[in-house]
Amino acid sequence: MMLKTTVFFEGVSVGMVGKILIVDDVATNRIVLKVKLANARYQPVMAASGQEALDAIARDTPDLILLDLDLGDMNGIDICKKLKQNPKYSRIPVVIVTANTDRQARLDALHAGADDVLPKPVDDQILLARMRSLLRAYEQDEELRLRDATLMELGFAEGPANFAQPARIGLIAPNPEIGVNWRAALRRQMPHDRIDLLGQHDALNVATQANESGCGYDAFVIAPDLSMPGEGLRLMSELRSRSRSRHAAICIAVPPGRRDTIAVALDLGADDLLPDTFSAPELAQEAGLRLKRNLARKRRLDQQRATLAEGLRLATIDPLTGLFNRRYALPHLNRIASESRQANRDFAILILDMDRFKSINDTFGHAAGDSVLVEVAKRLSQELRASDIIARFGGEEFLVALPNTSLEQAGQIAGRLCRVIEQQPIALPDNHNSLRATVSIGMALGGTSDPDRSVDTLIEMADRALMYSKAHGRNQVRILRAPNAA
Ligand code: GH3
Ligand code: MG
Ligand code: MG
Repeated sequence: MMLKTTVFFEGVSVGMVGKILIVDDVATNRIVLKVKLANARYQPVMAASGQEALDAIARDTPDLILLDLDLGDMNGIDICKKLKQNPKYSRIPVVIVTANTDRQARLDALHAGADDVLPKPVDDQILLARMRSLLRAYEQDEELRLRDATLMELGFAEGPANFAQPARIGLIAPNPEIGVNWRAALRRQMPHDRIDLLGQHDALNVATQANESGCGYDAFVIAPDLSMPGEGLRLMSELRSRSRSRHAAICIAVPPGRRDTIAVALDLGADDLLPDTFSAPELAQEAGLRLKRNLARKRRLDQQRATLAEGLRLATIDPLTGLFNRRYALPHLNRIASESRQANRDFAILILDMDRFKSINDTFGHAAGDSVLVEVAKRLSQELRASDIIARFGGEEFLVALPNTSLEQAGQIAGRLCRVIEQQPIALPDNHNSLRATVSIGMALGGTSDPDRSVDTLIEMADRALMYSKAHGRNQVRILRAPNAA
């Protein structure tokens, strides 16, 4: 596929205002950049010295910083280092814009933590594409970081860390010879990581398969053109759309002077651009540095995503029994109720309460009581159908919802639930004692007989039915047919 047209989204697409701090000691430079950014609907803020820049950042945190290297009072490198070492500002993207095109100066800027280095006079197309890509990444980082912070505040722990693993990197080059060169250069920069050459034709297959340990690739380095112009970029888009490779870092190795390709690659979602030949040691170092940085970011985002998934699990699962908790059960019940209404079906709500559970605790201890709860939860779960749901609703109380179930079926299922607890004694963790436990059940039927009856009312009805079960000898099922039935 030939990529001829570039779609430019001026400004930032979502959420962010796009407040850009321009730091340059030469007034005309500042003004030229300001006009460009204002035209692209960013909000430029200007600083004429290092100190002014630091003050402006402290006053009102920008979303991105365009930083000149030679400022009257300070060096751009030092400012960059300062920002990147401060956790409050370290994630703000910094682009160094400099007339110094020396390879070593460029490398120094990257080492100082700059996200990119662009030569002056700046190429508008590349600058704007770079800004879009950095702002997009920053926004994604911030979103995950905020959710993470909220979970921490709620008291959920961090997800499992995954530091020690070497990274897995896939190279997709236009021909094997170039691929071998890339690999040799990158291996020297990152000797502990695994670098594979992927053939361009089976790259998509290989890249979307898990390895022995179930993990996919952490990063890809792709040439923009493979057997056809633009084919590498198309491959990148494919990788971005597949679930296994979606979160990998993707770097495009661009031949010098390909300004259109740079902008297109960034707009199509490349995380970074690498040199594509390593004729000088600085070029290989730059490639290694950029790749390592993207891998670190990918790991950090993976970790945050894992924390988020773990937080959601903890928020909805009861840790003792592994059943859903009340927080999950209630909205789920509402969904069952509304779907039943739409489909004109009945559904049943059961509330189960352990009989004389206090005496189990009193006789055998709280730990024994816990193990009884775990066993009861297990037996009840095994008795239910896949579409049914069981939750721990309170201390020794469970809630069961049976979608698409008639009164008769619900009664049979509830009876089975009583029997599956009562029939087999429950062994206690001390391995000597076992006990016979029973449950009482209250039931309410929702759906066709009174479609407007709310879930709250049904739960109340099931609760009162449960009281009848308790009052009439326990270890039995009772149903309340109407909210005000006696
Ligand atoms: P009834 O048949 O009337 O329901 O009697 P009961 O003893 O089961 O009811 P009561 O409400 O008097 O006592 C419930 C007990 O369950 C009291 C509480 O300490 C205990 N309990 C609640 N949650 C847990 C738990 O997570 N583990 C243990 N071991 N006990 C719990
Ligand atoms: Mg009880
Ligand atoms: Mg109770």
